[in-house]
Amino acid sequence: MREYISVNEYLAQLRADERVALFRSRLEGRLKQVRYVAHRVEFCCPLHDDSSPSARMFFAPGPGGEPPMTFKCFACGSMDFVSFWAKVFSCSSREAAAEIFPSGGRSSSSRGAKPPMPTQLRELETVRGTSISMVRKLWRLAYDAATDDGDDADLVIADWAEGRGFFDALCNDLCGILRREHLDVVGIPEDVRRWFLGHYRLILPLFDVGSGELVNVQALRVSGDDGPKVLFPRRATGADSVRVSGSVFANKPARRLLLQPAESPGGWVVVTEGGTDSLAVGQALFDLPVIGVPGASCAARAVGEWCRGRKVLLALDSDETGIAAARSMASAVDKAGGFAEAIRYPGEAAGDACDLLDRGFKLGDIRQWMLDAIAALEPRAVEELARV
Ligand SMILES: [Zn+2]
Repeated sequence: MREYISVNEYLAQLRADERVALFRSRLEGRLKQVRYVAHRVEFCCPLHDDSSPSARMFFAPGPGGEPPMTFKCFACGSMDFVSFWAKVFSCSSREAAAEIFPSGGRSSSSRGAKPPMPTQLRELETVRGTSISMVRKLWRLAYDAATDDGDDADLVIADWAEGRGFFDALCNDLCGILRREHLDVVGIPEDVRRWFLGHYRLILPLFDVGSGELVNVQALRVSGDDGPKVLFPRRATGADSVRVSGSVFANKPARRLLLQPAESPGGWVVVTEGGTDSLAVGQALFDLPVIGVPGASCAARAVGEWCRGRKVLLALDSDETGIAAARSMASAVDKAGGFAEAIRYPGEAAGDACDLLDRGFKLGDIRQWMLDAIAALEPRAVEELARV
């Protein structure tokens, strides 16, 4: 029996690299000034007289539920892939669909096999520790890789990110990408080689709570099921050594706050726990400072000058350690001259923001839920946010 699926369902079943391959092989040649940027492609719109690229296509599903490969043009508006195809080739949607499907509309096991996971590497020979200057170099490379034209290997990360709605986090300097070519950089520690082989390829920067300077990075694994989710570079001894305690993840507004805590007094700061939650919440609340503690045990040490006179919404994990950490952090915020309020993620099973995303919630839902929590404490604060 043949099962029929729509083009959009078919596209959703493909991996991100397969979507890029489809675009490259069938459409790229018909378009002008094609440029691959992070996880989208930009080009001159073929549907209107366009001399500089005003059209783009995102390979992932859109944040508003748009199907993958939705076309957007500043002048012509947006349409799904099959409509765009039909316009480019001047054919009917039915003909376009028949062209796009490799087997004429039949649902098949077209979803290619995932690349094999290397076996988990562990406990290798002792290596020299890593300095802050080296992690800064690494972050700069990873940051450039996320904003630069993507290579195909990055699409493993794209696949992972699109499932969670993190696409914009890659373009918003919340995280960077470790690439094979980075391993050739002089002085790159052996650890980083193992990160790459073990699929720890998402690089998140950590900033000192006192100075706001980058003092460490965390590597997040984006595929495979074994072993820990995150890794830190090995510590060295000496003044230039990296550290975890007293360092935090921070989105753009939070980085400004850490660098100049006295600049704009008052206002709300949201605190979250762990790298992936920092990506999710940091992106969802892009216009509000979001500080992420690397682990529950570091929560109290994350308190600094930044919380003086500010209101702090503690959205740490809803498990026992998270609740205990929120309690100790609340009292530290209080001592530092701030006001802290802890909230718990909604729902029985929800431990953190990523649990909510796994259960089908979107970043927009997390944003709304957090803003509602703030509004319940101070209605005026959210009105001000809405004005921004
Ligand atoms: Zn156009």
